[in-house]
Amino acid sequence: MAQRLKGVSAANGIAIAPLVHFHADLDFIPVRTLEPAEVVGEVARLADAIGEASKAILGLRKRLAADISDHDARIYDAQLAILHDPAFTVELSRAVEQNLCNGEVAVQQVAARYESVFEAMEDASMRERGADVRDVARQLLGVLLERERSVYTAHGQDYVFAAEEFLPSDAALVDRSHLRGIVTARGGKYSHGAILARSLGIPAVVAVEDLLRRVRSGTEVVVDGDSGIVIASPDAETLERYERASAEQAEAERRLIELRGLPATTPDGVTVRLLANVESGRDLDRIESSIVDGIGLFRTEFAFMERRQFPTEAEQVAMYRRAIVWAKGKVVTFRTLDVGGDKPLAYLHTPEERNPVLGWRGLRICLDWPDLFYTQVRALLRASAGGHARILLPMVTTAEEIARCRAVVDEIRRDLAAAGEPHDPGIELGAMVEVPALALILDRVLPLVDFVSVGTNDLVQYLLAVDRDNPRIAQMYTPYHPGVIRFLHEIAQKANAAGRPVSICGEIAGDHYFTALLIGLGFRELSMAPVFLPRVKLMVRTFDIAECERIAAAALAAGSASEVRALTREHGKAGWARFLRGS
Ligand code: PEP
Ligand code: MG
Repeated sequence: MAQRLKGVSAANGIAIAPLVHFHADLDFIPVRTLEPAEVVGEVARLADAIGEASKAILGLRKRLAADISDHDARIYDAQLAILHDPAFTVELSRAVEQNLCNGEVAVQQVAARYESVFEAMEDASMRERGADVRDVARQLLGVLLERERSVYTAHGQDYVFAAEEFLPSDAALVDRSHLRGIVTARGGKYSHGAILARSLGIPAVVAVEDLLRRVRSGTEVVVDGDSGIVIASPDAETLERYERASAEQAEAERRLIELRGLPATTPDGVTVRLLANVESGRDLDRIESSIVDGIGLFRTEFAFMERRQFPTEAEQVAMYRRAIVWAKGKVVTFRTLDVGGDKPLAYLHTPEERNPVLGWRGLRICLDWPDLFYTQVRALLRASAGGHARILLPMVTTAEEIARCRAVVDEIRRDLAAAGEPHDPGIELGAMVEVPALALILDRVLPLVDFVSVGTNDLVQYLLAVDRDNPRIAQMYTPYHPGVIRFLHEIAQKANAAGRPVSICGEIAGDHYFTALLIGLGFRELSMAPVFLPRVKLMVRTFDIAECERIAAAALAAGSASEVRALTREHGKAGWARFLRGS
């Protein structure tokens, strides 16, 4: 029976192959009590092992240099820094001297201590160093035990790597010619294993709970790196669907490169602004600012969620400024803290709620906790000097909320001006349209804002009264519902008539089958995860406005979601075929 496992998307793409378990083979080590006379020799043995392990890491870094970016290769520099950290090496010798233990035991003890210190740290990237220490220790043990670490292979067959985690040194051991995907039980989107998988272009899903117990070695799996799911023993229909998607993807990768330098303009010359959605400054490291028109949605809450306490104003200024410098004058749309609902903030103790998605979340929290909001807005304004920042408010329900936020922005602007602090005095303020009632009073809202952005992920859940995260009713959660399409049409028409920029930043903006329909409904700005940009640009460049409007008219007249879906598929496929034919 097919089994669907949810994890965290770490590297995009689809892989289909048997999953093979690989275990760290260094868990069992010899334990020996030394005679005092042996201590000097054992410490020297450890020093030699450190030398050997460094050589191996440098060798691996060199071997991967052609395949991964310089930035990502620095993961290995971090490991070398641990190996040569005087405190680490002194602790190793001290463990041997004081405990009269062999080098292997010393490595295990010291590494465990370091790991627990790192894992308790505030900063997520520092916590990630715990995995580096683990990896360095494994490599040292390998050298000390003179054990050849076995190569991860399925003997010439394609395979999906599965293990507790994918550590940087594993990149040396995988048989890459047949490695199709990576699935791990631990790790996060920014763990070093995830970064390497992305850099190597291997689809990966991490943080699949209890993976090794739930899926046996040898089981056929589909790794859907785009959605962060793994399907074990897929049925014939699922397999066929993914095989098709995977073939399309391979062809797409080859051809989409051609689009890089071309503008996102329809054949009849209308430009559609394509922007990126990001979740942290680190996301920016993997996008070139030249290929996007800016950042349409910076979900600032993720930087808050990876920490153990609220970031200070200075920390926030540094984070926002980094994005503004990256954008080189292009727009960066910072959404203010959008926690609560499906995004809990561990250190913000909110009361239990019966309906958290309808509860104390997003802007509602910020307006009740002025300190939080003031600090963020002040940091955004201070970072805005010399760039093009915009402030976007999430989960807006009423026009009054916008007026209250506008007053806060004005007050902070006055304070900063009085203090002579640089900032952008004309910073734009916008509202997310994701609460349906706000869309119905746009005539009142638009005069209060500089732009609006439609959050279709939440808008669809509220319009259809279908929880976006409830797997039982997942098939009911559909942006193809004709009611949703009509709603989007109204929003675009009203914003365009009022001359207010309107964008979509929910997932449908990155669905290339939706592109022509959205343009036809009146949208000229789409913001999406960067991985979807090339496909969406392809569609923009394929359909002229009259064609887009015909598709939109048909969708507006449709009576069911399946009709709208079929319509978008039909045109999406036609657009795709046109592109591949080169016309
Ligand atoms: C949305 O709701 O469409 C949106 C972009 O916000 P999020 O997915 O972060 O709730
Ligand atoms: Mg939302």
